[in-house]
Amino acid sequence: MDKLIYLDNNATTRVDDKVLEAMLPYFKEEYANPSSIYEFARPASRAIKEARGKIKDMLNAANEKEIIFTSCGSESANQAIRGVLNMNKNKRHIITTKVEHPAVLNLYQSLEKQGYSVDYIGVNSNGELNLEELAQAVNPDTALVSVMYANNETGVIYPIEKISQIIKSKNPNTKLFVDAVQAAGKIPIDVQALGVDLLGISGHKFHAPKGVGVLYVNSKTVITPLIIGGHQERGLRAGTENVPYIVGIGKAAELAVDNLKYEMTEVKRLRDKLEANILKNVFNARLNTSVANRVPNTTNIGFEYIEGELILLHLSDLGICASSGSACTSGSLEPSHVLRAMGVPFTAIHGSIRFSLSKYTTEKEIDYVTDALPSIVDKLTNLSPFQNELDELKKLKS
Ligand code: PLP
Repeated sequence: MDKLIYLDNNATTRVDDKVLEAMLPYFKEEYANPSSIYEFARPASRAIKEARGKIKDMLNAANEKEIIFTSCGSESANQAIRGVLNMNKNKRHIITTKVEHPAVLNLYQSLEKQGYSVDYIGVNSNGELNLEELAQAVNPDTALVSVMYANNETGVIYPIEKISQIIKSKNPNTKLFVDAVQAAGKIPIDVQALGVDLLGISGHKFHAPKGVGVLYVNSKTVITPLIIGGHQERGLRAGTENVPYIVGIGKAAELAVDNLKYEMTEVKRLRDKLEANILKNVFNARLNTSVANRVPNTTNIGFEYIEGELILLHLSDLGICASSGSACTSGSLEPSHVLRAMGVPFTAIHGSIRFSLSKYTTEKEIDYVTDALPSIVDKLTNLSPFQNELDELKKLKS
C-alpha cells in the first residue's frame, strides 16, 4: 500500500474538511476582533456564540456560560485544577489516579512538591479504577479529585457518574475535574448526568485543529483564572479570542455528535477485527486493556519479549503509524506508567503498541496491517535474546 495508514488517532487527528471550510472565512474576511463595537465585528462575535452553543450541546451543559475556550487539553486541566485550588487555599488534600495523562499527573506531582498531600488511586489488571480505594481516600480536607474519562493508552472508560456519587457522598464540597480529552467524539458526554464540576476536552483529538480546547465549569463552581488580563471568557481566560479555531472546534463538536453512532459501531467493528486477528495470528501477543469497558477506537497489545520501538519502525517503513504509548511520553525510554500501574509484566510493556482508529480508517487498511504485522513480529521474535522464554510461551499457547 503506498498510502499512509494512520492508526494513531489518540495522538492527534486529521482536521475534517468541513471544519477547515467553516474556519477559513474567519482568517481573511471576518477577521475583526470580536470585542470591537462596530458592525464589522458582529460576525466574529456571533460565530463564537454559535460555537459555544455547539459545545454546550455536545456536552449537554445547562448553560452556554459554563463553556470556556482554551488553547488545549493541558491548559483546560491546569486551569481547572489550579483554579479550584486557588479558591480553596485552606484545603491541602487532592486525589487523582495512577494512570492520568502527564497533563494532570505532572501537575499533581508539582503540587505535591509544593506541600499538597496527594493520593494516587490504583487500577486492576484490566486498567479499571479501584473505587474502594477512592472512597476511602476522600476526607473533609479534600479540595479536588481529578479522574480521566477515558485512558489515552488503553482506551479504558472510568465510571464517572459513580465516581461523582462516591466523592459527593463523602464530601459534598470536594470538586471533581474530568479530563475527557480521549472521550470526546468517541462516546457521548453528558456533564449533567455525570455530575461533574469541571471537564476538559481538546479539539485536535476529534478532527478540529491543534491549539484549541474547552473547559466546562459548572455554574455552581467558582474558580480563579490562570490568565489574567481582559474580560474575555467572562474574565476566566484573558486574551483576544482565537475566532477561527473556536469556530473549528464548534464545527468539529457538531460533526462528532453526528458521527457517534458510526464511531460506536463501525469504528468499533474495525478495531475489534484488527485486535482479534492479531491475537489469533501472533502467539506472543497479549491484550493490555479491558475488553468491554473502553472507547471504540483503541486497542493496546503487548508483544512479549520484543521491543515496541522496533515494531513501530518496521510499521513506519510500510507507512503504518501507531504508537508505543502517549505521544507526550514517547521519545522517553521510560516504560508506560499506565501499563505499570496495571501490573503488565515488563517483558510485555516494552513491546506494547497502541492502535487508535478514526472515522477515516478503512477495512482495507485494517486488512493490510493484519497481514503485515505477523511477519514483522516474527522477524523480531527470532532476534530476541529471550528464546527460551519464547519457546515456553509458544508451548503454553499451542
Ligand atoms: N489528556 C489526555 C487524556 C490526553 O490524551 C491528552 C493528549 O494526548 C491531553 C490531556 C493533552 O491534550 P493537549 O495535547 O490538547 O494539551
